[in-house]
Amino acid sequence: MKFGVFLYQPEPVEGVDYNFYRIKPESGTVGKPNPEMYTNIAVFGDNALAAKRPEWISMSADGPAFRTNKKFNLRWDVLCMTNPEVREYNLKLIEECAKKTPGISVSSQHFAEHAFCTCPRCVELWRKSGLNWLDWRAKTVTAFLKEVRERVVGKPLFVNCLPDPLLGKVRFGYDFDAMAEYADYFVIPMFSKAYPTPWYWETIARGYKSFLKKPVYVNFYVRGPNETWDTVAPTKQIMTVATRVARTGIDGIIFLAEKAEYIRDFQKNAVADKETREFLKDHGGDEVLELFNKWEKLV
Ligand SMILES: [Zn+2]
Repeated sequence: MKFGVFLYQPEPVEGVDYNFYRIKPESGTVGKPNPEMYTNIAVFGDNALAAKRPEWISMSADGPAFRTNKKFNLRWDVLCMTNPEVREYNLKLIEECAKKTPGISVSSQHFAEHAFCTCPRCVELWRKSGLNWLDWRAKTVTAFLKEVRERVVGKPLFVNCLPDPLLGKVRFGYDFDAMAEYADYFVIPMFSKAYPTPWYWETIARGYKSFLKKPVYVNFYVRGPNETWDTVAPTKQIMTVATRVARTGIDGIIFLAEKAEYIRDFQKNAVADKETREFLKDHGGDEVLELFNKWEKLV
């Protein structure tokens, strides 16, 4: 197994195989590439661009894909994915970062939800395609990923997919087999502010691992932006869920934090919790326990 971190600031940490920098998270702010870190880019989820160009928002019969639309669980504003300007803006950033950094990770490179996008351009493109609605959406998502792949020359491409192994095609337009032709790795974000019941996360990871045709990583939430240690899961819960999910046969685990300092605190806490490390022996997730052993040298 490999391990990584997913950070909102361009300072890497020690003790992991991959450092990802979220150069453009869904807030839409854009940082500078760090040649020591892999680059993550959220594509169509972009609050800043949605505020600047609200007419580019993705549409549905139940309203636009703004966060204020309570009919959907939208965590950020989602732009229409057939908008040529939005595509080119992101593809250029991807291409630039692929040249300067060790690899690319893309998020939010899909439709907002099952009801999207019904803007006049999407409806016209769908009609012209001769495909049914679901197949047209899936083909649109795959075609965009192909364009991303063409800009990421000779470097690894990580593709994030929301944690729904059952209805991914209906909801987001994921055709996992087709996407596997262009992705080097799939990453499943499993973000939660608490992990008291690892069973569910284990189920989702096992589901994805059973059919994805490229290596599968999961991503756990340590401490994102605008959090305190009191608003996120205790280290013990993250240690437990990581060990439990590791036994599903997944290929890697990534830990999200706003900045390197929070990962170092997490590493210290994990190392110090000898009781949990002892308890987690014999769970079948030894590679995670070996990671905690390795971290002893850092703290
Ligand atoms: Zn559209």
